[in-house]
Amino acid sequence: MPVNVGAMSTSAHPSADAIRTAGTVTDRLVEANERYASDFTDPGMDARPVLGVAVVACMDARLDLHAALGLELGDCHTIRNAGGVVTDDVIRSLTISQRALGTRSVMLVHHTGCGLESLTEDFRHELEDEVGQRPAWAVEAFRDVDQDVRQSMQRVRTSPFLLHSDDVRGFVFDVTSGLLREIDPA
Ligand SMILES: [Zn+2]
Repeated sequence: MPVNVGAMSTSAHPSADAIRTAGTVTDRLVEANERYASDFTDPGMDARPVLGVAVVACMDARLDLHAALGLELGDCHTIRNAGGVVTDDVIRSLTISQRALGTRSVMLVHHTGCGLESLTEDFRHELEDEVGQRPAWAVEAFRDVDQDVRQSMQRVRTSPFLLHSDDVRGFVFDVTSGLLREIDPA
């Protein structure tokens, strides 16, 4: 049985058919880039984020991090994956962010209505049944978003690789109001 990942995507996007008939989605993005580059001027920045912050967030399409947090080009590192989970690879990026590129603060942003709330670890078993191989990674599904944010904060704070773990704060972004709610780490 194919693994159902439909819950992770937004359904019935009004212009999805229009996009498909006008070429591939990637073609459209490449065209948008040409327009972007035509107005682009070299900001003359180096790679160190201006605000010294790394934001770890879910990849959810409804979460526009730069707009929602008032971020400008060059301000921060953004590290995103399904759920905004603090995986080993996120620790890898945070370690490079802090040790090579000078960030000190970590902000974690999960959100309401996350696709991971509708999955379970059965997802891995179904994958194994389908393809004959179980993935090495955990799905990191959750039921309680507040608890999931607390676990993520704990993983950052207890990582031996990071230089700075004193300014680690976690939030839930409400996809219907656009507002952040801070999660008490305790
Ligand atoms: Zn999500």
